Amino acid sequence: MSYEANVRKVIPYTPGEQPEGKVIKLNTNECPYPPSPKVEKALKAMDTDTLRKYPDPLCGGLVSAIALYYGLEKENVFVGVGSDDVLSMCFLTFFNAAKPILFPDITYSFYDVWAEVYRIPFRTVPLREDFTLDPEDYMTENGGIVIANPNAPTGILESPYVIEDIIKANPDSMVIVDEAYIDFGGATVLPLIKKYENLVVVRTMSKSRAMAGMRVGYVFGNPKAIKYLNDVKYSVNSYTMNTPSLIAGIAAMEDDAYFEEITGKVIATREWVKKELKSLGFFFGDSKTNFIFAGHEGTRPGESRAAFAERIFLSLKERNIYVRYFKKPRIDGYLRISMGTDEEMRVLLDILKELI
Ligand SMILES: *Cc1c(COP(=O)(O)O)cnc(C)c1O
Repeated sequence: MSYEANVRKVIPYTPGEQPEGKVIKLNTNECPYPPSPKVEKALKAMDTDTLRKYPDPLCGGLVSAIALYYGLEKENVFVGVGSDDVLSMCFLTFFNAAKPILFPDITYSFYDVWAEVYRIPFRTVPLREDFTLDPEDYMTENGGIVIANPNAPTGILESPYVIEDIIKANPDSMVIVDEAYIDFGGATVLPLIKKYENLVVVRTMSKSRAMAGMRVGYVFGNPKAIKYLNDVKYSVNSYTMNTPSLIAGIAAMEDDAYFEEITGKVIATREWVKKELKSLGFFFGDSKTNFIFAGHEGTRPGESRAAFAERIFLSLKERNIYVRYFKKPRIDGYLRISMGTDEEMRVLLDILKELI
């Protein structure tokens, strides 16, 4: 015998690579622009003496800034260390049934990892051939539902009505809607938190507010659901949010003009890159995110979609351009390409022209 029999063994989530040095990094959906200048100013003005003290466990300033921006009450908002942290808290808080939770077969690959680590039974539901979701598939007994909208890595946005049908049909299950990419042109289900108590909406400052390194995520829900989340948080770690991230989060939330500017630029780049990729023979769904999930029929004799995608992925990497490739059933014929600056995308497109 050894202690190993009692270890919680898990297969962890694999994040995208974070290469050192001068590369064009289009593999983890980060923002190519810096955070708001107000964030820089606020952090420079931070008095390091405050680091002696524990941060505000209620995260009151940040919660208020988020509530104000979205026209909600403080009681509707829960914050955490990126949306990965708040999603994990949501799984722990809301998914405690014996029945399996449901999520699509192709989606954010952290969902099954949290289900495994927390021992939550789960069942994946196949998306249609075009990667859209059939709400009927979720009208069956379940212990909870989690849906990324727009979805990752496909970039596909479902209408709020499709999501509402699922929420309405499942009053006994919590439905978590992960809106990590909603700021790039999607319609949110946020207003529905007033109509359905079994809905929470998860957001992040990592993508649309250019703060992946700061780790700020948040959840919207009815006051009771938010209270349940806080009870679990205080039972794990009262001080999840550090002082600099609270300060930076408030400053980011207060600069709406800058937020509109950078998300607008990313959307413009995406629409331009869609045209360019199409002319190179790529196919893809209508992404409403800061990335494009693109496939290609292959350009060499007998080359399959998957062989093409892997070849391009590796050739780009040799040239210090990082995109994401998932060697998994149904999606191994695609590359997930995050939107960089226009200059970075120009370099990518020129090299793609050579490679295909
Ligand atoms: C990036 C991403 C997250 C995690 O974002 P963080 O806030 O940086 O933890 C969550 N969900 C989806 C769908 C994502 O793509």
